[in-house]
Formats: sequence, structure tokens, C-alpha cells
Amino acid sequence: MDKKIGFIGLGIMGRPMAKNLVKAGYSLKVYDLNKSAVADLAEAGAEEGASVSEVAKDCSLIITMLPNSPHVKAVVLGEGGILESASEGTLVVDMSSIAPDASKEMEKALSNKKLRMIDAPVSGGEPKAIDGSLAIMVGGNEEDFNEAKPLFDIMGASALLVGPIGSGNTCKLTNQIIVALNIAALSEGLLLAKKAGADVEKVFNAIKGGLAGSTVMNAKAPMILEGNFKPGFKIDLHIKDLANALDTGAAAGAPLPLTAGVQQMLQVLKADGEGQSDHSAIAKYYEKVSGT
Ligand code: NAD
Repeated sequence: MDKKIGFIGLGIMGRPMAKNLVKAGYSLKVYDLNKSAVADLAEAGAEEGASVSEVAKDCSLIITMLPNSPHVKAVVLGEGGILESASEGTLVVDMSSIAPDASKEMEKALSNKKLRMIDAPVSGGEPKAIDGSLAIMVGGNEEDFNEAKPLFDIMGASALLVGPIGSGNTCKLTNQIIVALNIAALSEGLLLAKKAGADVEKVFNAIKGGLAGSTVMNAKAPMILEGNFKPGFKIDLHIKDLANALDTGAAAGAPLPLTAGVQQMLQVLKADGEGQSDHSAIAKYYEKVSGT
């Protein structure tokens, strides 16, 4: 692929993802509201973009990696955005975790002007963004997926086309529900062990190889045992994802009672000043309500 790649959103995730593309030899034009992030990428070899519009005019494939639906909509549909500035045929690859309905809405508006979009959120966090081993879940048509696949292969260890536009984000919401509920289950179980007088570390070691063992348990139980809640994945971001899951569930007729319960726990923690803590701090909610 010899065309110039646009990259908008150079935060915790976008910055290392964009750097990996530059390292692999791609020519990138980048933009972020944060000028120091743009300068950092320029130092790594990317071309600085002065605005979304400048990137959109210059690039026929544009990756976005932004916080939530309103940010992506502003960049894609807003004044001076991609819809207004990009040429016919441009492919937008949104890798942010947003609401599936927002992906569908943007794709519809873009396709009316003969522009294309796929949604391609990721799982794996900053370490996997840095070493290029993210899991990428994609919604869109096969031709567009195949066009972006060489880039996915640099940023990720796997990229799977799940279904039509919005399916990538539906997949990501499914992932986020399962992770949040797993952390809550882990916290609840470990609290029982602690309150009932067991050695919690030994309990963890005894059960981790059994049916309850999981990637979430292996990653989060040590953090809970050490009381180390340095992110990782922040509570604020998980509140955003579960809010999108609850909205999507309400519209689709899928009851999500456990998701709603864990969302309440996260809201209590946020009100307690824990929004920037790792989501494993759900354990703190249990300690708080049990008076531990
Ligand atoms: P972040 O807040 O670190 O970065 C977002 C970047 O977007 C910031 O640099 C911000 O300045 C920029 N931005 C916001 N609005 C903009 C606009 N209108 N124009 C240009 N730039 C704008 O967020 P992040 O941690 O990199 O996450 C990005 C997405 O990836 C989110 O949807 C998040 O849920 C998802 N995600 C994050 C992780 C993680 O561990 N951090 C893991 C998987 C997925």
C-alpha cells in the first residue's frame, strides 16, 4: 500500500499504534487536539497535520482512535470533518470503542457521499498496542476489511471480520461486559474468602488452575491482592463502555441485569474519586460495602 495513511487520535492507544505503522515503513499524516502528541509522532517520522480537514484532504485511508461516539462523530461528521473534506472512495477505519449505532449512522452518512467506513475496535490495552499484538474485531464489508488488513497485521496479533458495520463494536461491548462481570465475580469471591478467614493468596493459587481460572483472574487477582490499582484500563473508560452496552441492550431488547449492577458499582467508585483507577478497583467497592 503506497498511499498516505491518516491517523487521528494519538492518546494512550493511538500513539503506539501509529508509531508501529511508521516503523513498518508507512507514510503517515497525523492529528490530535494535543499538540505534544502530534510533535512526538513527527519525531518518530510522521507528517504533522494541522487539522482533521488537512489530514482528510491528503489521505485516502484514515484511522481514528478517539475516546467515544461524540468524539468520533465530531471528527467524521462535524464542521471541517472527514465527510466534508475527504475525496470520494476514502476508507475510514474507526478503531475507537464506541456505540454500534454511532458506527452505523456515520457509515450511512459517509456512503451517501461515496466514502467508506469500517469499525475496528481493539482489545489488549497499552502493552499490546506497543508491541503490536492487539486483538482487532471488525465490522464492515469484506473488501474494505481486506484493504485495511495489512495495517491490522502490524498493529495486532489477530483481526477478524465479525459482520456488517457496527459488529466490531457489538463484539467489543460483549468483551467489556464479560471482563467487568468477571472482575466483580472475582472481587466477590475473594471478599468471601477474606471475611471467612481464609488465606486469600492461597485461595487464588488453589483455584486458578480450575474451572474458575481465567485470563481476567490471572491479570487482576494479583492486583487485588496487592491493593495495586494503577491502570491498566481505567474505571472511567469501563463506565463509558457499559453505558454503551446498556443503551445497545435497551434498543435491542436484551436485558443486562448483571451489567447494570456492575455499572452501579463503577459509578460509586467514580463518585469516590476512583475514575482514573484500574477497573480491578471494583474490589474496593466490595471492601467499602463490607466495612473491610
Ligand atoms: P486517550 O484519552 O488516551 O486518547 C484519546 C485521544 O483523542 C487524546 O489524545 C485526545 O486528545 C484525542 N482527541 C479527542 N477528541 C479529539 C478530536 N476532536 N480531534 C482530535 N483528537 C481528539 O484514550 P485511549 O486510551 O487511547 O483510548 C482510545 C479508544 O480506545 C477508546 O475508545 C478506548 O475505550 C479504547 N481502548 C482503550 C484501551 C486502554 O487500555 N486504554 C484498551 C482498548 C481500547
